[in-house]
Amino acid sequence: MQGYCVKCKATREMKNLTYTKASNGRTMAKGTCPVCGTKMNKFLSKEEADKHPVGGGAKKK
Ligand SMILES: [Zn+2]
Repeated sequence: MQGYCVKCKATREMKNLTYTKASNGRTMAKGTCPVCGTKMNKFLSKEEADKHPVGGGAKKK
């Protein structure tokens, strides 16, 4: 999964990827930059989110 590192100002392949649900119900990928270790995150498209279901969590409106 590629993400944008604000420190390197470059697109990097994120390390230590985890998927999490954001408060707005969208799925986010979180990872770290392989070069500088800065935390990165990215909202997934619906297609990508469907491939990486995030378990648990009751939906609140
Ligand atoms: Zn970086």
